[in-house]
Amino acid sequence: MRYYTILLNGEEKAAASRDGKDLFVLDAFADMNALIASGGIREIPKDAQKVSVSDAQLLSPIPRPLQDVLCLGINYTAHAEEAERFSRESFGGERPYPIFFAKRVCYSQGNNAPIPAYTGLVDSLDYECELGVIIGKDAKNVKRENVTDYIFGYTIVNDVSARNLQTRHKQWYFGKSLDGFTPMGPCIVSADEFAFPPKQKIRCRINGEVRQNSSTGNLITGIADIITMLSEGMMLKAGTVIATGTPAGVGMGMTPPTFLKPGDVVECEIEGIGTLRNYVE
Ligand code: MG
Repeated sequence: MRYYTILLNGEEKAAASRDGKDLFVLDAFADMNALIASGGIREIPKDAQKVSVSDAQLLSPIPRPLQDVLCLGINYTAHAEEAERFSRESFGGERPYPIFFAKRVCYSQGNNAPIPAYTGLVDSLDYECELGVIIGKDAKNVKRENVTDYIFGYTIVNDVSARNLQTRHKQWYFGKSLDGFTPMGPCIVSADEFAFPPKQKIRCRINGEVRQNSSTGNLITGIADIITMLSEGMMLKAGTVIATGTPAGVGMGMTPPTFLKPGDVVECEIEGIGTLRNYVE
């Protein structure tokens, strides 16, 4: 099943689709967080209102995450190398354990929405196409063999980053958390639609030029380890979004580093989920 949040007559509505073409409005759920907590649906209700995806205004599938988005830093090998080249102090060194951090998301915008450039505050605006894992039920002390029971589905997250703020403040939180820095979408695909762990092509294009091109099978710390490690000491509430890290090819990794500017179009694509398109404003 594919789950969307759409704007219908000025109201946010959760919707579901089998084929990604016809959406059916799910009036029984107040929003996507309620739908996730319920475990989702097996069948589309017979009386559900139908909307064509091409006519619908797609919002982020989870416009208001209940908690900060949890993130993995430096979780693809080639990205580790390019990040260290950019700033050894901020991104280099030995890492026997994964880097976990969080980003604040008051409002996540969806497909075709702008990414604010914050000209004057940010001089190095960057993109990070990532597989987002959505936790389906409260998870604490999850055993490795049970991890899949806790995954509701997958989406695409663009972990937009201000490199100058990340390095200036030593800690990545602020540089990742500016309003508008977490576009998500275009939908959540339920976990049963993928093998585990998902090994899907992941790509990012800037103004049509392919910059990132890898597979979600190349994570250094895989999804089972991420959920096992985090839940050992911390409750992962239903609806939690985990951004699993970005492959090589971000702007800070280019020679010379090349950052986003107003007017640029960022397309994050993951095979089987779709394309999340945003423009810089
Ligand atoms: Mg990231």
